[in-house]
Parts: sequence; structure tokens; C-alpha cells
Amino acid sequence: MPLMSASVPVRGAERIRRALLGSYPILYVQSWEEGRVERALAMLAQKFYEKPVAFGAWTCVDGWTGLPDVPADTRDPLRALDVVVQAPGPGFFLMKDLPSLLADRPDVIRKLRDAYRQLKGKGKFVVMVSPRLLLPEDLNKEVFVVDYDLPDEAEVRNAVGILGKRYLGEGALSPADADRVVTVLRGQTLDELEHVFAKVFARTPRFDAATFDELLAEKEQSSRKAGVLEYVPPRFTLDDIGGLENLKEWLRKRQHLFTREAVEAGLPVPKGLLMMGMSGCGKSLSVKAIPALWNLPLFRLDMNIVFGTANPEASFHRALKTVEGLAPAVLWIDEIEMAITGGREAGGGDPALGRIFSTFLTWMQEKEALVFVAATANRIHLLPAEFIRKGRFDQVFFLDLPNETERKAIFTVHLKKQSADVSRFDVVFLAKATKGFNGAEIESVVQAAAIDAFNEKRTLTEDDVARLITNTVALSKTMDEQIKAIKSWAHNRAISASRESAT
Ligand code: ATP
Repeated sequence: MPLMSASVPVRGAERIRRALLGSYPILYVQSWEEGRVERALAMLAQKFYEKPVAFGAWTCVDGWTGLPDVPADTRDPLRALDVVVQAPGPGFFLMKDLPSLLADRPDVIRKLRDAYRQLKGKGKFVVMVSPRLLLPEDLNKEVFVVDYDLPDEAEVRNAVGILGKRYLGEGALSPADADRVVTVLRGQTLDELEHVFAKVFARTPRFDAATFDELLAEKEQSSRKAGVLEYVPPRFTLDDIGGLENLKEWLRKRQHLFTREAVEAGLPVPKGLLMMGMSGCGKSLSVKAIPALWNLPLFRLDMNIVFGTANPEASFHRALKTVEGLAPAVLWIDEIEMAITGGREAGGGDPALGRIFSTFLTWMQEKEALVFVAATANRIHLLPAEFIRKGRFDQVFFLDLPNETERKAIFTVHLKKQSADVSRFDVVFLAKATKGFNGAEIESVVQAAAIDAFNEKRTLTEDDVARLITNTVALSKTMDEQIKAIKSWAHNRAISASRESAT
């Protein structure tokens, strides 16, 4: 029995309605279900305006149907678009086969770009529909993409209930387990969700750590949204982070603010957090620990991929819109300084960069969706003070090199990961011996020591670790001047993520 028929309400029509309110005259609805989109538009044609307006559907075989007074043969998309432009009043014009034709028809692309200007503000909407996103970069700015099939949290919850019963039996998923599954599966279409469930639970009809892991792996595979968003599974917790106690406390205090109860109680929902600082000191790790703590899905926006597309501004905008559709969610913008400089040391020059920057600031200011932005930055001198002020982050943290207490905690985390008996290690000595090391360097020392011990067929010892420490030159040794500069830059602009100052 397909999930769609199992009375799962889908609010795609509402998504189209919202896009119409944004007055984009050309929409691209990404959906497998042409029929449903057609019915939704026919309904909107009746109800969107005070009076019913025209509604027509076009295919490359039949031309326009449903519209009054159209010329005889409108199968050619250029003629079909002329009909829309010349239509006497508002209306909804569904063009079914258009996306697949665009690749070979630059004339149609041009016509659409012109139509954008001619239709804007006239109450006429061209709606393309296709299961795949076949949008040429040239049209990125003119076309608003609606992910019709993406269900919201209530729909996912409902679907998980139905599928849980089907594959695991009545009551087999406890409410807490169902919550975890819902968090993982948000951002999938109902089809994808059903597919993932079938793949994992048809074979092993029980919910445990192993099947949950499989669920994560399946989700990871199938979830590159909008090309530049990547789903990051909740594999880390705060216990995986050594030190950074101020940051952890900040996150813990906000743990329940995205729940329905908190939102209904009118508590302020945090908008975002900026983490800047030294490389390898746990910025990314801290972001990855948020989804398990807050029970929200995490999506990473890769600025390198954004800048690799032909129209970075449109890709960036589309990613922000997509993640709003997935709310409540955490959006991780890695290397946010790229949004300002395009990755070059000196910004300026390229007007698109300025636009991306202002797109982001406006979005942060106006976004109503429950999207929490976790931004990370390495090259903090590239962040204009204005960004830190106007970015409206709830907090800006500086992650320094770990102090001695933190190095002790980081050793403990990584020794445990290697299944070592920590009580047999003098972590105070190890922490003292690694002054100037960052978290990543401590991790690699422990890992390399574990490999040595494994090759010699014995358990990992403190001597293995100590030997590798002696052979490692911490990056900070060679970057003394830069580190001083970063610290003094951050001093007045951010609060320390650590509880004590570094030693
Ligand atoms: P970059 O800016 O270079 O991306 P980053 O600050 O984001 O660095 P992470 O990717 O979070 O650094 O850390 C790199 C690795 O170092 C992680 O795999 C993590 O295991 C380890 N690490 C860093 N800091 C800590 C920490 N405080 N506790 C435990 N592990 C840490």
C-alpha cells in the first residue's frame, strides 16, 4: 500500500500558495505527482483571487487546454508562452513538459527570461512541473523552485507512525524512538521516507542501535538537497567534546527552545550562533553535536560548492529557502567568511559577493521559520565587524587552542574512542606535554599511537602516545604571530568558548 494513500496530509499546495504570495511569476514545482499539482493549481485559480481566474495546462503534445480563445496550434513552447503573455487577465498556466525541453532550446530560455519581466505584477503565473530539477543556471534568478513533495514535521511524524506499525508492529516504536526517527528522516519526500523504511526494516524488523545506524546511512545517501545542502546525521554528542564548557553550557540551556511547548509559551527562539577561531579546535565538532542535543536535523551549506555553481547568489538563496521548508532545523554555514569574500583574501570587487552577504543579513533578520544558523569561520580577519554586529547572532564564540584542563578532557575523549583504559594513562602529564596542540592534533597523536600498538599486537600505552607527542610539531609553534593577531582581534568581539583562559 503506498504511503500517499494512507491519509497522510500533504501541504504542498500551501507551499505553492506561499510562493505565489512572494509574487514570483515563474515557479518550478519539483514533484512526481503532476496530477496533484494540477489539481492544486486548479483550486488556486478558483480561490487565490477574489474571483475565479483562468487556468490552463500545456503539454508538448496537446498545446494549451482549458483556456478560452487560444490560437490553433500552441504546441511550440514559444507560441505557448506568447499565449500567457497576451492573456487578458490574471491566471495560472501549468506547463508540464517545459523543463525537459529547456536543455536544447536557448530560445525558450530567453523567452522565459523576457516573460518574467512581462508577467511580474500582472497576477499571471507560469508553473512548470517536473520530478527532477532540470533548471538551467541562466534561469536561476527568474524561477522560484518549490519543493512540493517535502513533508513538514507533522506529516513525517504521521508517516513514521504508519510505517512503524507496518514494518515493526503496533507500539514497537516508543515515542522517544519515534522522535529520533522523525529527526533523522526530516527533509525526505514521503516516497524517499517509505523507501528508506522498507530498505532498513523489511530485512530486520526491529528498532535498535544497528538499524538506527542503517537509517542514518540511507538518509545520508539520499539527501543532497538543492545541490549545496548536505544532511549531517546526529552521530556526536556533547560528551565527544573535550572542554569548551561555556559553549556547551550555552547549548544545553537552549536544548528545549525548539520544542512545541517552548514556542507556544512564547520563549524567544535562538536565531544563530557564530563560532570562530583556530583551526582544529572543535568548531565543526560542536556544530555536529547540536542535532542530538536539540533533536533537530542538521544541514550543512557548503560555500565552496555554492561558489562552484554558475550563479552562486541564486544557489545560496535557494538553499536558504529549502532549509526553511525543512524547519525546525539547524543550518550549518561552514566557512561563512566565503559568503563575504568568495574565498579570496581581499573581498570587494565582485558585486555578487556583496549581494550574497546582504541576502544573508536580510534573511537572518526576517526569517520566521525555526531555522537555527550555526556559522563557523576560520579566517576571522575576513569578517567585517558589521557582519558580527548585524548578523544578529545570539552569541559569538571564540574557540582558542585548548588549555591544559581541556587537553586533558580531549585526551580522555579520544583514548576512550580507542577503547583504551584511561585510568592507566597519566592524562595530566599528556596534557602538560601538549601545550600549543589543538584538538585535531591530540586526536591524531592518539590515533597514530593506537595504530602502532595494533601493528605490534599489543594494547595502547602511555609510552606510545608520549613518543608520538615528541615527534609532533604543533601547528601553533609555526604560527605564533598569526595566533596572537587572531586572539587580539577576537578579544572584544567574541566570548570565550572555554571556561578558563588557555595555558
Ligand atoms: P577547521 O576550522 O580546520 O575546520 P574545526 O575547529 O572545525 O577546524 P573540528 O573539525 O571540529 O575543527 O576538529 C577536528 C578534529 O579534531 C575532530 O575530528 C575532533 O575529533 C578533534 N577535536 C577538535 N577539538 C576537539 C575537542 N575539543 N574535543 C574533542 N575532539 C576535538
